[in-house]
Amino acid sequence: RLSRQSDYELEKLQLSFEFFPPKNDKMEERFWVAMDKLAPMSPRFVSVTYGAGGTTRDRTTKIVSRIEKDTGVNAAAHLTCVGASKEEVGDVIRGYQEAEISRIVALRGDPPEGVGMPFQPHPQGYKNAAELVAGIQEIGDFDISVACYPEMHPQSPDWHGDIENLKRKIDAGASRAITQMFFDNSDYLRFVDRARNAGIHAPIVAGIQPIHNFTQVANFAKRCGTSIPAWLADRFEGLEDDPETHALVAAAVAAEQVTELVDRGVTEFHFYTMNRSSLVFALARLLGRRPA
Ligand code: FAD
Repeated sequence: RLSRQSDYELEKLQLSFEFFPPKNDKMEERFWVAMDKLAPMSPRFVSVTYGAGGTTRDRTTKIVSRIEKDTGVNAAAHLTCVGASKEEVGDVIRGYQEAEISRIVALRGDPPEGVGMPFQPHPQGYKNAAELVAGIQEIGDFDISVACYPEMHPQSPDWHGDIENLKRKIDAGASRAITQMFFDNSDYLRFVDRARNAGIHAPIVAGIQPIHNFTQVANFAKRCGTSIPAWLADRFEGLEDDPETHALVAAAVAAEQVTELVDRGVTEFHFYTMNRSSLVFALARLLGRRPA
């Protein structure tokens, strides 16, 4: 099994860690504690999300440029185009350039009414993430990642439309796609097959959500179209008031998921940290990483 093999094999793995911009001083303290723990684990990059509808635009820029300066780790800023004109989005991209941010995770975003609600592009805005990727390319030379969905984006008419949309994003200049969280590895593996059969050769990075809080993750999953298998719900059932066992089960579940993927040949992982380090740090260790 590859997951039990030598450091040499595991060295081939690429890891990235996703954070969100902290909202207040206390959250900021927790953010840096988590960052200081994870940055030495040699990630390809760490990324910081862009709050719904651009609500964190300044905080995202500030924190991403500080990560690179303070930790020396490559950092990527997320960017959405929902609710903004091309001019406004261009200002943010130029702001990233000024802050020497060269990596962008380019997304459409969701309407303020909520995830899954019908999307209306801004009259002078980009209509989707593929157009946004092309717009970013016109402004500068960025390393661009985009999103993809092992269980299909909820607004895609069918698999063909979903995969064609991903192909447009890659053809527009994205270097890789990062998946939405998934808990059934066969969904991911089938998705990669569909993409390869459609002529998409870019890396499809497995987005892994360690379950820090099952109730929260299950609620979020429902909104973004990720299914929670019955076996997973069973494992966490009754653990709401038992944080210690919850954490042990979460570590076991995530370890099982990533080691199975490594054994199936997956080499690129993106961890959704929720600004916490413990589970992701343990997973990175299991994948052979040690603090540099
Ligand atoms: P798109 O690729 O534009 O696709 C959206 C839907 O529109 C798809 O169903 C697609 O098939 C359809 N579509 C696109 N173009 C066409 C067309 N021409 N004709 C017909 N249908 C079309 N959200 C945030 O607000 N901030 C973040 O920082 C953030 N980070 C994320 C990171 C990752 C890794 C992932 C997976 C998601 C993230 N999201 C974030 C959520 C994302 O904004 C939503 O999932 C959103 O609903 C879709 O964004 P997208 O970039 O995939 O959209």
